[in-house]
Amino acid sequence: MIEITSANIEKAINKARQTKPFVKVIEFRRYSVTNKTSGANYTVKFSKINNRKFAECNCKAIVVCYHIGASIGAHIVLAEQMHTAA
Ligand SMILES: [Zn+2]
Repeated sequence: MIEITSANIEKAINKARQTKPFVKVIEFRRYSVTNKTSGANYTVKFSKINNRKFAECNCKAIVVCYHIGASIGAHIVLAEQMHTAA
């Protein structure tokens, strides 16, 4: 698990904007990210511990990768919807 910071997530989001992978919601906090060019598919998981945000991706990267950057947009929208519903 990697902690998400405003600095590392910004980089990841920028990379995701260039790569434009396809993001699918598996369930709240779990996303399937597919690279449209290579077809490679990875699963991203988000968790919150003591108000700090963490993410996990099953690709080889050991940093906040663009799969995390791509799925956090969907995650923020969903999290806000859940918050509003609750
Ligand atoms: Zn990844």
